[in-house]
Amino acid sequence: MDLKKIIRDIPDFPKKGIIFKDITPLLQDPASFKCAIDTIASRYENDSVDIVLGAEARGFILGGAIAYRLNAGFVPARKPGKLPHHVTKAEYALEYGVDTLEMHQDAIKPGEKVLIVDDVLATGGTASAKVNLVEKLGGEVVGVAFLIELTFLEGRKKLDNHNIFSLIQY
Ligand code: AMP
Repeated sequence: MDLKKIIRDIPDFPKKGIIFKDITPLLQDPASFKCAIDTIASRYENDSVDIVLGAEARGFILGGAIAYRLNAGFVPARKPGKLPHHVTKAEYALEYGVDTLEMHQDAIKPGEKVLIVDDVLATGGTASAKVNLVEKLGGEVVGVAFLIELTFLEGRKKLDNHNIFSLIQY
Protein backbone atom coordinates (compact mmCIF):
# COMPACT_ATOMS: atom_id res chain seq x y z
CA MET A 1 0.00 0.00 0.00
CA ASP A 2 1.20 3.52 -0.73
CA LEU A 3 0.61 5.09 2.67
CA LYS A 4 2.24 8.36 1.60
CA LYS A 5 -0.88 9.14 -0.45
CA ILE A 6 -3.10 9.12 2.61
CA ILE A 7 -0.98 11.48 4.72
CA ARG A 8 -2.20 15.05 4.40
CA ASP A 9 0.18 18.03 4.26
CA ILE A 10 -1.07 21.07 6.15
CA PRO A 11 1.12 24.08 5.32
CA ASP A 12 1.85 26.67 8.03
CA PHE A 13 0.46 24.59 10.91
CA PRO A 14 0.90 25.04 13.85
CA LYS A 15 2.97 28.00 12.68
CA LYS A 16 4.29 29.60 9.53
CA GLY A 17 6.94 27.62 7.67
CA ILE A 18 6.02 24.19 9.12
CA ILE A 19 4.42 21.59 6.85
CA PHE A 20 2.40 19.52 9.29
CA LYS A 21 2.06 15.82 8.44
CA ASP A 22 -1.56 15.06 9.33
CA ILE A 23 -1.99 11.32 9.94
CA THR A 24 -5.72 11.47 10.77
CA PRO A 25 -6.76 10.32 7.23
CA LEU A 26 -4.53 7.25 7.67
CA LEU A 27 -5.95 6.52 11.14
CA GLN A 28 -9.54 6.72 9.92
CA ASP A 29 -9.01 4.36 6.96
CA PRO A 30 -9.19 0.77 8.29
CA ALA A 31 -6.90 -0.79 5.63
CA SER A 32 -4.23 1.91 5.94
CA PHE A 33 -4.25 1.86 9.74
CA LYS A 34 -3.97 -1.93 9.78
CA CYS A 35 -1.18 -1.90 7.19
CA ALA A 36 0.84 0.69 9.16
CA ILE A 37 0.45 -1.11 12.50
CA ASP A 38 1.11 -4.59 11.09
CA THR A 39 4.17 -3.49 9.10
CA ILE A 40 5.80 -1.74 12.07
CA ALA A 41 4.89 -4.48 14.58
CA SER A 42 6.13 -7.33 12.35
CA ARG A 43 9.68 -5.94 12.43
CA TYR A 44 9.85 -6.51 16.20
CA GLU A 45 8.01 -9.84 16.40
CA ASN A 46 11.16 -11.76 17.35
CA ASP A 47 12.58 -9.16 19.76
CA SER A 48 10.65 -10.28 22.86
CA VAL A 49 9.36 -6.74 23.45
CA ASP A 50 8.02 -6.35 27.02
CA ILE A 51 6.84 -2.75 26.78
CA VAL A 52 5.88 -0.31 24.03
CA LEU A 53 6.39 3.31 25.07
CA GLY A 54 4.42 6.11 23.39
CA ALA A 55 4.14 9.82 24.14
CA GLU A 56 0.87 11.74 23.99
CA ALA A 57 -1.10 12.05 21.91
CA ARG A 58 -0.42 10.30 18.60
CA GLY A 59 2.15 8.00 20.22
CA PHE A 60 -0.71 6.59 22.33
CA ILE A 61 -2.75 5.59 19.28
CA LEU A 62 0.07 3.89 17.39
CA GLY A 63 1.83 2.56 20.48
CA GLY A 64 -1.31 1.01 21.95
CA ALA A 65 -2.14 -0.85 18.75
CA ILE A 66 1.47 -2.03 18.25
CA ALA A 67 1.70 -3.20 21.88
CA TYR A 68 -1.48 -5.25 21.42
CA ARG A 69 -0.07 -6.84 18.24
CA LEU A 70 3.20 -7.72 20.02
CA ASN A 71 1.55 -9.05 23.19
CA ALA A 72 3.47 -6.33 25.05
CA GLY A 73 2.42 -3.84 27.70
CA PHE A 74 1.98 -0.14 26.97
CA VAL A 75 3.58 2.72 28.92
CA PRO A 76 2.61 6.37 28.39
CA ALA A 77 5.06 9.28 28.44
CA ARG A 78 3.20 12.50 29.21
CA LYS A 79 3.54 16.24 29.53
CA PRO A 80 4.27 17.46 33.09
CA GLY A 81 1.53 17.15 35.69
CA LYS A 82 -0.62 14.57 33.89
CA LEU A 83 0.58 11.32 35.48
CA PRO A 84 -0.81 10.67 38.97
CA HIS A 85 1.95 8.57 40.61
CA HIS A 86 5.70 9.15 41.26
CA VAL A 87 7.39 10.27 38.03
CA THR A 88 10.80 10.51 36.44
CA LYS A 89 11.42 13.37 33.97
CA ALA A 90 13.53 14.13 30.90
CA GLU A 91 13.95 17.56 29.35
CA TYR A 92 14.40 18.11 25.63
CA ALA A 93 15.20 21.07 23.41
CA LEU A 94 12.55 22.80 21.34
CA GLU A 95 13.15 25.44 18.70
CA TYR A 96 12.92 28.03 21.48
CA GLY A 97 13.43 26.77 25.02
CA VAL A 98 12.90 23.34 26.55
CA ASP A 99 10.02 20.96 27.25
CA THR A 100 9.65 18.01 29.59
CA LEU A 101 8.24 14.48 29.35
CA GLU A 102 7.35 12.38 32.39
CA MET A 103 6.93 8.67 32.97
CA HIS A 104 5.94 6.72 36.06
CA GLN A 105 9.01 5.55 38.01
CA ASP A 106 7.67 2.01 38.21
CA ALA A 107 6.62 1.83 34.53
CA ILE A 108 9.70 -0.08 33.39
CA LYS A 109 11.66 -2.67 35.37
CA PRO A 110 15.43 -3.07 34.93
CA GLY A 111 16.24 -5.32 31.96
CA GLU A 112 12.83 -4.99 30.28
CA LYS A 113 12.93 -4.69 26.50
CA VAL A 114 11.27 -1.50 25.32
CA LEU A 115 10.12 -0.43 21.86
CA ILE A 116 9.61 3.34 21.54
CA VAL A 117 6.95 4.42 19.02
CA ASP A 118 5.96 7.83 17.66
CA ASP A 119 4.27 9.28 14.59
CA VAL A 120 6.96 11.65 13.30
CA LEU A 121 10.75 11.80 13.65
CA ALA A 122 11.59 15.47 13.12
CA THR A 123 14.63 16.85 15.02
CA GLY A 124 14.76 13.79 17.29
CA GLY A 125 14.49 15.79 20.53
CA THR A 126 11.37 14.08 21.90
CA ALA A 127 12.57 10.62 20.87
CA SER A 128 15.92 11.08 22.60
CA ALA A 129 14.09 12.25 25.77
CA LYS A 130 12.10 8.99 25.69
CA VAL A 131 15.30 6.96 25.24
CA ASN A 132 16.76 8.76 28.28
CA LEU A 133 13.69 7.96 30.39
CA VAL A 134 13.79 4.26 29.50
CA GLU A 135 17.53 3.96 30.12
CA LYS A 136 17.29 5.89 33.41
CA LEU A 137 14.91 3.19 34.67
CA GLY A 138 17.24 0.41 33.48
CA GLY A 139 15.18 -0.64 30.45
CA GLU A 140 16.79 -1.79 27.21
CA VAL A 141 15.68 0.12 24.09
CA VAL A 142 15.30 -2.55 21.40
CA GLY A 143 14.08 -0.11 18.78
CA VAL A 144 12.69 3.35 18.03
CA ALA A 145 9.96 3.19 15.37
CA PHE A 146 8.22 6.02 13.53
CA LEU A 147 5.42 6.18 11.00
CA ILE A 148 7.11 9.16 9.30
CA GLU A 149 10.69 10.43 9.18
CA LEU A 150 11.52 13.95 8.00
CA THR A 151 15.01 12.95 6.85
CA PHE A 152 16.14 16.51 6.06
CA LEU A 153 16.01 17.36 9.79
CA GLU A 154 18.55 14.60 10.54
CA GLY A 155 16.84 13.52 13.77
CA ARG A 156 18.57 10.14 13.50
CA LYS A 157 21.83 11.77 14.53
CA LYS A 158 20.40 12.42 18.01
CA LEU A 159 19.56 8.72 18.35
CA ASP A 160 23.03 7.31 17.62
CA ASN A 161 23.60 3.70 18.67
CA HIS A 162 19.92 2.86 18.55
CA ASN A 163 17.98 0.77 16.10
CA ILE A 164 15.82 3.31 14.23
CA PHE A 165 13.02 2.46 11.78
CA SER A 166 10.60 4.64 9.84
CA LEU A 167 7.84 3.43 7.55
CA ILE A 168 7.61 6.55 5.35
CA GLN A 169 10.34 9.05 4.56
CA TYR A 170 10.18 12.63 3.27
P1 AMP B 1 11.06 16.24 17.23
O1 AMP B 1 11.30 16.21 18.70
O2 AMP B 1 11.55 17.49 16.58
O3 AMP B 1 11.60 15.00 16.53
O4 AMP B 1 9.52 16.32 17.00
C1 AMP B 1 8.79 15.20 17.11
C2 AMP B 1 7.38 15.47 17.57
O5 AMP B 1 6.80 16.65 17.04
C3 AMP B 1 6.60 14.31 17.08
O6 AMP B 1 6.05 13.67 18.21
C4 AMP B 1 5.54 14.87 16.17
O7 AMP B 1 4.29 14.51 16.66
C5 AMP B 1 5.71 16.37 16.16
N1 AMP B 1 6.09 16.92 14.84
C6 AMP B 1 7.24 17.53 14.52
N2 AMP B 1 7.24 17.97 13.26
C7 AMP B 1 6.07 17.59 12.72
C8 AMP B 1 5.46 17.72 11.42
N3 AMP B 1 6.06 18.36 10.40
N4 AMP B 1 4.23 17.21 11.24
C9 AMP B 1 3.60 16.56 12.26
N5 AMP B 1 4.10 16.42 13.50
C10 AMP B 1 5.32 16.92 13.74
